Amino acid sequence: MKRLGILTSGGDAPGMNAAIRAAVRTASAREIGMVGYIDGFAGFVAGEYLELDDRAVGNIIQRGGTFIGTSRCPEFLDAGVRAAAVHQMRAAGIGGLIVIGGDGSFRGARALEQEHGLPVAGIPGTIDNDVYGTDEAIGFHTAVNTAVLAIDHVRDTSESTGTMFFVEVMGRTSGAIALHTALAGGAAGVLVPEAHEDIAHLLDRLHTSIERGKRSHIVVVAEGDRAGGAFAVAELVGRQIDHPFRVIVLGHIQRGGRPTARDRIVASVSGALAVEGLAAGRSGFMIGMQGGRAVEVPLSDVVAGAHPEPEYGLLQLAQTLSG
Ligand code: ADP
Repeated sequence: MKRLGILTSGGDAPGMNAAIRAAVRTASAREIGMVGYIDGFAGFVAGEYLELDDRAVGNIIQRGGTFIGTSRCPEFLDAGVRAAAVHQMRAAGIGGLIVIGGDGSFRGARALEQEHGLPVAGIPGTIDNDVYGTDEAIGFHTAVNTAVLAIDHVRDTSESTGTMFFVEVMGRTSGAIALHTALAGGAAGVLVPEAHEDIAHLLDRLHTSIERGKRSHIVVVAEGDRAGGAFAVAELVGRQIDHPFRVIVLGHIQRGGRPTARDRIVASVSGALAVEGLAAGRSGFMIGMQGGRAVEVPLSDVVAGAHPEPEYGLLQLAQTLSG
C-alpha cells in the first residue's frame, strides 16, 4: 500500500486533528503517503483532497475541530455514488481509507469494503461517546471538561444569589455527557434521554435541599431528555417550586476548544494503530479503547452493536452526592 486516504465525518470532535497527525506521521515513517479528503465523504465523492505530509500536520495537535473539515453527505447512501468515488480514488493510487467519525460514518466505510474490497479502518470521534466497542470516543473527555468548567462558573453565581440553574448539555440520544458532567460538576439532578428521572423525584430532592438551606442548585439536562430539554424541565419545576431560576444552553461551545491531554493521547494512539493495522493487511476494524487498552474491534460488530448504555451507577452516585 503506497497511499492512504483519511477523512473526518459527521459531527466534529476535539482531538480529530491529533488523530490525523498521528496517522499521517505513522504512515510517513512507513513510507506510505497520505491524503486528507475535504469535508468527509463529500470530498471523497468529489475527489477533493489535500496531500498530507509530516509538515502539513504540524501545530494542529492542540487545535479543536478538524482542519480537513467534516460534513454529512446524504448522497453517500447511494451505491452508485460510492462506486464512482472508489473508482476515482483508485485511479489516484489511493489504496485504503481511514474514517474518523461515529457509527453512521462507519456504515459508509463498511459499505466501501463490502462492495469494492477497499481496505478501511475506523477511529471513533464523537463527543456523544455513543459508539459500540469503545469506552471513550475522541472528543468526549474534552466536551465533558468544557461542560464542567461552565458549571463551575454557574455555581459561583448560583451560590452567591441562590438562583437555581438548569444547564442543557449536548446529547440528543445519549446521556453520557450529561451524566459525567453532573457527577463532576456536583449537580443536584440530571436528566438523560435513556433513563427518565421522575420529575416528582427531582422536585422532592430540590425541595429538600432548599429546606436544608442549600444555596446553589444546578440541574443538568441532556438536550434529548424526554421532558424536552432544559427549558421544558425548568417550566415543569417552576410550576411546583417558587424559586428564582435561569436556563443555560451550552450548545456548540461543547464541541470546540483545545482537546484535553487524554483525548490527544487516545487520538494519537488510535491514529497510529489504524495505519499499522492497514499496513499489516488488516481491514474492517475500528480502534477502540477497552479497559484502558487500544484494541481492534470488527466494524461489523460496531455497526450491529447497540449504543452503549449510560453508566446508571453514575446517575445514582450523582444523586446521592448532590446533598
Ligand atoms: P456519525 O458518523 O457521527 O454517526 P452520521 O450518522 O450523520 O454521523 O453519518 C455521517 C455520514 O456517514 C453520513 O452523512 C453519510 O455520508 C455516511 N453514512 C451514514 N450512514 C451510512 C450508510 N448506511 N451507508 C453509507 N454511508 C452512510
